[in-house]
Amino acid sequence: MKPLHACGVAELSRALQSGAVSSVELTQHLLARVTRHEQLGAFVAVDAELSLAQARAADARRARGQAHRLTGVPVAHKDVFVTRDWPTTAGSKMLAGYRSPFDAAVVARLGAGDAEAGEPGAGMVTLGKLNCDEFAMGSTNETSVHGPVRNPWNPQHASGGSSGGSAAAVAACLVPVATGTDTGGSIRQPASWCGTTGIKPTYGACSRWGMIAFASSLDQAGVLARSAEDCALLLAAMNGFDARDSTSSERPAQDFHAQMLASREGAGGALPLRGLRIGLPREFFPAQLSADVEAAVRAALRELEALGATLVELSLPRTELSIPVYYIIAPAEASSNLARFDGVRYGHRAQRYTDLASMYERSRAEGFGAEVKRRIMIGTYVLSHGYYDAYYLQAQKLRRMIADDFQACFAHCDLIAGPVAPMVAAPLGAQADDPVRAYLADIFTLPASLAGLPAMSVPAGAGAGGLPVGLQLIGNYHAEGTLLHAAHALQQATDWHRRSPPGVDA
Ligand code: GLN
Repeated sequence: MKPLHACGVAELSRALQSGAVSSVELTQHLLARVTRHEQLGAFVAVDAELSLAQARAADARRARGQAHRLTGVPVAHKDVFVTRDWPTTAGSKMLAGYRSPFDAAVVARLGAGDAEAGEPGAGMVTLGKLNCDEFAMGSTNETSVHGPVRNPWNPQHASGGSSGGSAAAVAACLVPVATGTDTGGSIRQPASWCGTTGIKPTYGACSRWGMIAFASSLDQAGVLARSAEDCALLLAAMNGFDARDSTSSERPAQDFHAQMLASREGAGGALPLRGLRIGLPREFFPAQLSADVEAAVRAALRELEALGATLVELSLPRTELSIPVYYIIAPAEASSNLARFDGVRYGHRAQRYTDLASMYERSRAEGFGAEVKRRIMIGTYVLSHGYYDAYYLQAQKLRRMIADDFQACFAHCDLIAGPVAPMVAAPLGAQADDPVRAYLADIFTLPASLAGLPAMSVPAGAGAGGLPVGLQLIGNYHAEGTLLHAAHALQQATDWHRRSPPGVDA
């Protein structure tokens, strides 16, 4: 068997089932790797004793014959999912010292379950919490109070954001799979920059209960892993209705993995993607797209064609507008969501203040970083009397039109494809003084987020400096099965997702 850390979720699930390895052995092995690769900055909280106790419980559950297929497989969570047993900071000084009294719904479903609701969890082992941009605001994981996450392919480069810790930990084989959240690209973009496979499901597919809110109408939990199959296994255990989340889809949980296997068999060994129409919006291939990214994406599209898919040219005419629309709506919602951090209820409180108002002001001034403050100011501005109609209301109208444009496209295709990001991973520090430049680079991920559509990043090649390039695939609402099937077929025919950064096995 190959080294344990090189195994994906599906392989580990089989190895645990056959008894070739125990969860305790696996957990010990990965914890040692986490310590050895601390300089990446991917993990922000580890508690070996707690993880090992969960691993022992998983082994015991398996011995009793009550294991779920994921029982005993390690996972790590982006630090915006609240956890009862590990600290939760959302990458912010504002939440220093905060402990949640409960686990987020996603954490509970993958882990120990919800005793109150009588729901058993999958019994995965939590390996720790993962670094992220402060309150998930950013694209390079440089806004975190814990410091940046380095890209395992080149430590002088950013891992991407905001789920940078998740992408780097998976790429460096510190953990086989991690949760992430995507508001405007935060799963897909770091997945692309670190060469991992990431999926953001349809808005409402996974519960937001216990996910620290950034922009509630956009926030969605998802997965970063080393293959589409592993994404399917995790998403199957995470999705499904949750009455505690007012925007949760009232649909029964879907087994995306079983669907993926069924599509594979349905193809009967013939061209697996025969009949699949993939739309290429011309706005996703603008002149400013880096040549290396375009070349890798086009090569992946040729692979998809060779697997039987047909490519259809089409248009998403409001692609560029998705940037101002998102950077009005997301800050507007953030300014409201972040009002709860007042120095009274959670985390940081200023030590010196004169009265209640100055306690709020100072706590917030000290607790929030520059990017978060910028967004709170933009958000309160666009929502204020006199500007609401000019900005927020217009943005909402355009958001609807962007969603309608997608539906017009889906009349002619089953999936939409393009790049994830206009360039490979940026050097650390490159965007520090220019937030607008970073916002502009979100152009290809924002449209699907505004429309609430499921979307993936699939490793598609290497660009400048040998850094990974991701192919973006976007599906219609609840078409995760189609997305994962196409990504899986591509991964059966190519090996970009199996490549590891240099030095990973050191
Ligand atoms: N880069 C985008 C932003 O900074 C997206 C972040 C996210 O998806 N959480 O808002």
